[in-house]
Amino acid sequence: MRGRPFSTQAVRSSILSPLLPLLLLVCAFAQAAGDALADARALVEQSQAQVKVDPERSRALAEQALQLLAQQPDADLQLRAHLLLCDYHSERDLALANQHVAAGRALVPKLQRKGLAAGLFGCEGELHESAGDNTRALSAYEQEVQLAEQTQDDELLADGLYKRGHLRGVRGEFANGLIDLKRARTLYERLQLPLHTLTAENSIAILYNRMGDHAQARHYYESALKAQAVAGLRREQAVTQYNLGRSLENLRDWDAAQLAFDHVLKLSRELDYTRGMAYALRGLASVQNARGNPQSALTLLNQAADHQMSVPDARLHAQILLQRGIALRMLHRLPESVSALTGALHVFTGADALAEQAATHGALAAALAEQNDWRNAYEQQARFKVATEQLLTRQLDERFATLKVEYDTAARDREMALLQQAQKATEHSLAQERLAGRLLTVAIALAAVLLVVLGVLVWRHRRTSVAMRGLAMTDELTGLPNRRAALAELEAQLGRAAPHCALLLGDIDLFKAINDNHGHLAGDHILRAVGEAVRGIDHSGAGRPAACLARFGGEEFVAVLPGALLDEAVAAAEVFRTQVAALDVSRWTPGRGVTISVGVTLIVPGDSLSSLLRRADEALYAAKAQGRNCVVIRTASSAAPLAAPLAPVGASSVGSGA
Ligand code: GH3
Ligand code: MG
Ligand code: MG
Repeated sequence: MRGRPFSTQAVRSSILSPLLPLLLLVCAFAQAAGDALADARALVEQSQAQVKVDPERSRALAEQALQLLAQQPDADLQLRAHLLLCDYHSERDLALANQHVAAGRALVPKLQRKGLAAGLFGCEGELHESAGDNTRALSAYEQEVQLAEQTQDDELLADGLYKRGHLRGVRGEFANGLIDLKRARTLYERLQLPLHTLTAENSIAILYNRMGDHAQARHYYESALKAQAVAGLRREQAVTQYNLGRSLENLRDWDAAQLAFDHVLKLSRELDYTRGMAYALRGLASVQNARGNPQSALTLLNQAADHQMSVPDARLHAQILLQRGIALRMLHRLPESVSALTGALHVFTGADALAEQAATHGALAAALAEQNDWRNAYEQQARFKVATEQLLTRQLDERFATLKVEYDTAARDREMALLQQAQKATEHSLAQERLAGRLLTVAIALAAVLLVVLGVLVWRHRRTSVAMRGLAMTDELTGLPNRRAALAELEAQLGRAAPHCALLLGDIDLFKAINDNHGHLAGDHILRAVGEAVRGIDHSGAGRPAACLARFGGEEFVAVLPGALLDEAVAAAEVFRTQVAALDVSRWTPGRGVTISVGVTLIVPGDSLSSLLRRADEALYAAKAQGRNCVVIRTASSAAPLAAPLAPVGASSVGSGA
């Protein structure tokens, strides 16, 4: 007898169970179809949770779920319900259990969760195991494991490994059984199913028991019992308690064994768990046999057999027969004893249960010897010896193999831990790299923003400097280039290898008087008007380099004419002078005009700024001296200023001076 694992839904639904009424209430207001499906799911999960607590309730819930699902089919839920019912009936009614397997098989093509189909192999395996066909059971469990591995369904894989491991233990393949059970335990742990983990550990204990390590097994069972009592897993408690009884039986601690089996019987009666009752009664009979009370043993065994009749469990039947055979021998009912033992031997041999085979050979040898059937007794004794030795050898081999498994598992765990460490380190460095990448992006973005800001600043600075430079080089009143600009232009012209440039210097005549008589504002208006007039001598449009026409300061104006010949310069000066004289300034200086005197000179090689300006000044001075409103030339070669060759036009009749 062993506990079967139950699925994640068990735990999930145990959390959900208090919410179920609310869930159902909400569902009542939902659509009819959704209703049925939600109800069915809740029922399946409830059923799963009840498997170990209350098998009858579990069955009823699964059947209700199937009824609902008949109206609103859902292959996954239907299969889960069939698996639950197969599990229930596999201990009670093989035909019914098989019907559920067949119904489940039909659903396989429609499954969403493909791994669920593995559960069908699991249930088939249980049916074979109940029928005593461990070979077919093992092959079914192998298929379950394989399919669960293929579909990567860890929950069903754990279930398959658990069942296969347990059966391998029954067959004496302790090392392989231990591998399976330990893998199952690890998976259940990873799936965070503590109760399943417990069940797997329980089976590991059973395996230790079979290996002859009863003390170790007893330790596992006792700790499992505590955990099961806390979790309220009463049926599991009965199973573990029975297994503990078996260990105590093997340890020949009859008092403790009796206590354990009594407890199993009590628990099973409370749970109406027929299979548990049959096992408990067999255990109690074994204790009575050991204590030399064959009559009590027989009474107990009759009750056990009655219960067992409704339980399809070939090995339990054989175990009852073994104890019956032992009791009957003690009661000297030898033919009945031999017949019971022969029946038991048949089953144990078929199930490849070596320990039980050995015990039965021993009991048969004793019964036959008492019957004086020495030949058969000898044969059974010989078989007993062979089986015992085989068992011992197997136990020894398997213990070595088990040690190796344990060593390998530990080594693999260490390797896994190292791998996980390495993976963590890689993940950490990847995260760092990602962070660095992100920082780099931010840095690039910031740099780009900074670059744009800097660009804007540089552009604004340039614009400001250009504006400032413009302001610095411009005369505020007239908008003409100022003295600084004019001097810079003259410097540039003087710096040329072959300078070819004329300079005109004009000075408004008697300007002080204008200021004095008409006010400073009137003077300013006149300055602006003369400024406009000086613009009139711009000759740059005529294919010449640009002229620099500037206010030189006060009431003085200059024209720098690059490329101009002397006669061109004089003509320009005349244009300037006549334009000024023609200005209508009557609104500022009523009854009074304005005139200008102009000095003209040319740049010559070797000129400096001061020699050039001096010549221009001398020419201007001469113009003033000649009576104003006229143009006077002063070249480097002429010792004294020359009057302009062109006749002056304007108010003054004075045209030239020498
Ligand atoms: P001349 O014909 O000999 O040149 O006589 P003038 O009166 O023009 O010469 P003078 O140097 O005695 O006077 C120049 C005057 O120009 C003196 C000054 O007050 C005036 N002046 C200089 N700059 C400005 C200005 O920006 N606005 C005004 N309204 N007057 C100015
Ligand atoms: Mg002056
Ligand atoms: Mg003047």
